[in-house]
Amino acid sequence: MQISTNRIVTIDYTLMNENGTILDSSKGSQPVTYLHGHGRIIPGLESELEGKTAGESLKIDVPPEKGYGPRLDSLIQDLPRNLFKEEQEIRVGMQFEATTEQGPRRLTVVRVESDTVTVDGNHPLAGSMLKFEVDVRDVREATSEELSHGHAHGPDSDH
Ligand code: ZN
Repeated sequence: MQISTNRIVTIDYTLMNENGTILDSSKGSQPVTYLHGHGRIIPGLESELEGKTAGESLKIDVPPEKGYGPRLDSLIQDLPRNLFKEEQEIRVGMQFEATTEQGPRRLTVVRVESDTVTVDGNHPLAGSMLKFEVDVRDVREATSEELSHGHAHGPDSDH
């Protein structure tokens, strides 16, 4: 069966940066199961998987515009230090959720000074060229329940 819209696809993947350093992999944990054609995975992967079948292995290069988008300087902001509790330790690399004008975002602390904390709301992989190795494990029709929910159900899902 070929991968197409409204089919449930199970893949194993390894994600590398441009230099081939592994950033993430499903191997050793759980393969990923998703409903194809509904934007559940990044566009550059979804379009390349279209038409593939179980057992196929692919190498896919995904540019930022088909991955996590460009890195936007406008998402980097200086916040007054007193927005945070005085006793709260703020370190570079810390992440927290914040409600912004664009909705909830994960912010990463990139600089700490005595009176300002600089945070970056870009996705950590925004602006990056991504390299994927993908093994297609399974392709099946979605159930009517999965279609109405808009996502895949695993063997023990109850929603
Ligand atoms: Zn559901």
